[in-house]
Amino acid sequence: MAQRTAIIIGAGISGLTTAVYLQRSGIQTLVLEKAAGPGGVSTSWKRKGYTFEGGIHWLIGAKKEIPLHQIWLETGALQDNNPVFFKDPIYTLVDEKGSMPLFRDLHGLEVTGIRDKLALWRLRFHLVCFKNFHQPIGDLRGLKVRNPKPFSIWEYVKMLPAVLVTPFLMAQSARAYAKWFKNPRIRALLAAVVEPDINALSFIYTLGTFNVGDSGYPKGGSLRMAQNMADTFKSCGGVIRYQTPAEKVFLEGKQWSVRTKDEVLKADVVVVSADARSAIDTLFKEPLQVGWAKKMRTGLRTTQCMFLGVGVNTDLSSWPRSMQIVLPHPLQVAGHTYKTIVVNNYVTEEGYAPEGCSVITCLLHGPTYGYWKAAKEDGSYADKKKEVIPEIKDAVAVTDMATPLTYERYCSTFEGSYMTDWPPFRRLYHAPVRYREGLYFTGQRTAYSGGLPLAAQSGRSTAQTVCKDLGVEFVGA
Ligand SMILES: Cc1cc2nc3c(=O)[nH]c(=O)nc-3n(C[C@H](O)[C@H](O)[C@H](O)COP(=O)(O)OP(=O)(O)OC[C@H]3O[C@@H](n4cnc5c(N)ncnc54)[C@H](O)[C@@H]3O)c2cc1C
Repeated sequence: MAQRTAIIIGAGISGLTTAVYLQRSGIQTLVLEKAAGPGGVSTSWKRKGYTFEGGIHWLIGAKKEIPLHQIWLETGALQDNNPVFFKDPIYTLVDEKGSMPLFRDLHGLEVTGIRDKLALWRLRFHLVCFKNFHQPIGDLRGLKVRNPKPFSIWEYVKMLPAVLVTPFLMAQSARAYAKWFKNPRIRALLAAVVEPDINALSFIYTLGTFNVGDSGYPKGGSLRMAQNMADTFKSCGGVIRYQTPAEKVFLEGKQWSVRTKDEVLKADVVVVSADARSAIDTLFKEPLQVGWAKKMRTGLRTTQCMFLGVGVNTDLSSWPRSMQIVLPHPLQVAGHTYKTIVVNNYVTEEGYAPEGCSVITCLLHGPTYGYWKAAKEDGSYADKKKEVIPEIKDAVAVTDMATPLTYERYCSTFEGSYMTDWPPFRRLYHAPVRYREGLYFTGQRTAYSGGLPLAAQSGRSTAQTVCKDLGVEFVGA
């Protein structure tokens, strides 16, 4: 039989995950990427000798005992060249009273009254419930797999406590959950973990990953990790074409085809790993009208941010690694008011700044896409960006800012978002992996709330579905 072929649209983390597995399973795979390099929204970039980390803040599955770790190893994301640093404390509150750290095991939190003691007890209880909770990495039923992963009922039984408290956590926001603490400093500190308006399940799950010793930062950050994956794919014989956006995907006879600026490419299967929310409206001759696509159009709330990076001519090694700073005066940006900001300090990362200098970054969350879009249209975009960049007097060597329009421009994400909000009371949804015979979707947008774990997991499960449909043995490692 002739060798099977695949085209993957997008070299983000999900596209690269699918690509490595398909290529290793003997399917000749071509990845088309519109940007100049791999990683999608999980990326970092250099400005005047300073590196700005614009992606990974924590990597779930960095700890080797977590099942997801297997995907990071198999796809070459984690190698000897990017050992993981596990920060502790995970955040430090900085306010006019001084500082208060949030350690992985929660020790040292300033709880005094009975209410705070109860709230801390409840938080610890939920973290215990989530101790064994993780995204299971299994094999598709009926798929021929080299080195299959044996199914263990025990793995699922151990997750039961988390499942039992899930409805309670899904029914409230992270902010409401933190309000059980009376101490406003603890509330402010906990608000650094996830966006306070998303559900408390996401909060406990995320804090839980830190609590069990997972969620670290790989050396070299997003860019090295994505480059490692791209190199692994190429070393298996795969091909990536950068700066080659797919313009349209269409069916010709029985075969799916992809049109780029220069040619029409055909393959046995096409996998769309570009943002599915954008793709359903723009990548096909007509917008897709199937049920899940309609649901995505009406139900999806995007997570947007403005990214600020500052390179300073000062050694900030005395500053904490990650801070929740309570501002003396609220900051007004793009129609939003920020009373606190989370700041990451990369002084411990080798090579991120010239000798004696440092890099700090900050994400300002909020739906600002409309604000920036209007500014672009009336010509005030550049001036408005300049207003935001903080004046840190003489110490500033370089500043950089990305708005939702930047993410839209480079990665074609919907409303320039980088993840999907999962608000309280909203049930989890999954877009199907297979749209029709020969056409598949993968990536963070296929379920709430996105992130690297979902990108990797969906990439692997799409690769398994493709292998099963083509009657090919799935080779993981
Ligand atoms: C500032 C920031 C911080 C983050 N922090 C974390 C974190 O700490 N932990 C975590 O787990 N997650 C984090 N995330 C989220 C995480 O990075 C994403 O969820 C994940 O990388 C999404 O991967 P993806 O492959 O599904 O999508 P994408 O990264 O969007 O990949 C899609 C790819 O398709 C390409 N593409 C789009 N259209 C076309 C086209 N027509 N033709 C060709 N190519 C196309 C895009 O350029 C892109 O490369 C963060 C993201 C950002 C931006």
